[in-house]
Amino acid sequence: MLMNTYGRFPVTFVSGEGSRLFDENGKKYLDFASGIGVNSVGCAHPKWVKAVAEQAGRLAHTSNLYHTKPAAALAEKLAELSGLSAVFFANSGAEANEGLIKLARKYSHDKYGDVNRSTVVTLERSFHGRTVTTLAATGQEVFHKNFAPFTPGFVHVPPNDTAALKQLGGEVCAVLLEVIQGEGGVFPLNADYIKAVAELCAERDWLLMFDEVQTGVGRTGKWFAFQRLGGILPDAVSFAKGIAGGLPLGGFIAGKKCADVLKPGDHASTFGGKLVSCAAALAVLEILEEALPSVEEKGAYIRSELHKIKGLNNARGAGLMIGATVDAAVHGSARELVVKLLESGLVCLTAGGDSLRLMPPLVISQAEIDEGLGILKNEIL
Ligand SMILES: *Cc1c(COP(=O)(O)O)cnc(C)c1O
Repeated sequence: MLMNTYGRFPVTFVSGEGSRLFDENGKKYLDFASGIGVNSVGCAHPKWVKAVAEQAGRLAHTSNLYHTKPAAALAEKLAELSGLSAVFFANSGAEANEGLIKLARKYSHDKYGDVNRSTVVTLERSFHGRTVTTLAATGQEVFHKNFAPFTPGFVHVPPNDTAALKQLGGEVCAVLLEVIQGEGGVFPLNADYIKAVAELCAERDWLLMFDEVQTGVGRTGKWFAFQRLGGILPDAVSFAKGIAGGLPLGGFIAGKKCADVLKPGDHASTFGGKLVSCAAALAVLEILEEALPSVEEKGAYIRSELHKIKGLNNARGAGLMIGATVDAAVHGSARELVVKLLESGLVCLTAGGDSLRLMPPLVISQAEIDEGLGILKNEIL
């Protein structure tokens, strides 16, 4: 049997097509969740299927002891899209962030010869993963209970509070933050705050690192959410969820300042950047080239419609990463609302305990958006 770690919803999906899912009884659903932002190009996109099938039929995996064309091509593409330099491929978001943390510490140790200059600052309400170290980075107590002791070398400061960050001293080597806090409830950080963080990082030579596991690869209407901020370039950024359209792939991209910090033997991942995942990602980026220009507008439309719905408050987010606080007096808990919507044929997510979160595939059509919003309005008006 499966270990009971998820509190799964009472449905078994067996197939999908674009923004639609089908359960074992043939019931049709509209997908406003995309497997938590993973199915960025929807289900079974013909170009994606072709790329995966061809690569799987030729060579799926070699390990990182050898060069591969798909990984090299994908790294070039990601460097170009992000404006950064060197890519390390892993398999998941947590593993990507683990890499960022190692990168920051080694950068600092190499340069300052001080192993105590190793603290990574993260934010309250953040989420960075479920490994013991990324849990230590995660600024939410709810994920911590039962799992102490954690990896030392993390402090959490309140989001949008520059003074709290300024007070920190010589033990710090990096700041890691989500441009939009996803699991914490879909809360965009203030652009002014991120600008101030970037300035402070430059001044004190702390690495500025963005966890774009959820916000990256087109989710917010730009290739990376930091590109919404006008000119801010981090030292490194992590990505995962949507990159390979359903196959496991994550990693991080380092800018010039720290692109050469990790040397042979410093970091590795057996499955990381396997050929079949990278071939899938190359297809995803090609498909998104076309879908990306309308993501911002589609998201703005959904948010404006959510504003009209009673008991859904403070619709927020960017592009197709959207949150709205559920008024429990009107709808019950966010989870209860999601169960009701699922019964009505609309697949949605929760975030931060009290919010509805919508992350449709980035290729969703206007007609499908209206159909989904129709279900939402029917269900809860
Ligand atoms: C989902 C998520 C992670 C963890 O990713 P996994 O693939 O589950 O390890 C880390 N950071 C952010 C911002 C995420 O949204």
